Amino acid sequence: MSKPTYYVQECPTCGRTLEIRVEYLGKRVVCQHCRGALLAEDPSSRRAPATYWSLLRRADHLLEIAAQQRPATQ
Ligand SMILES: [Zn+2]
Repeated sequence: MSKPTYYVQECPTCGRTLEIRVEYLGKRVVCQHCRGALLAEDPSSRRAPATYWSLLRRADHLLEIAAQQRPATQ
């Protein structure tokens, strides 16, 4: 059994199925159908989806704001 060289990802722009080479994972690729740019991410390996990281960053940012709004003690 050999490792697949391609994985399948749906284009966020045109919704068509793309075969993307695994070596492009994490890189920006161009859809062969609509020429729209997308980030190559393997949907089958959901260890840390992009939404997870953006939520984490957002939570960090909110904590920062909360810390800044704490009344100063004199
Ligand atoms: Zn497309």
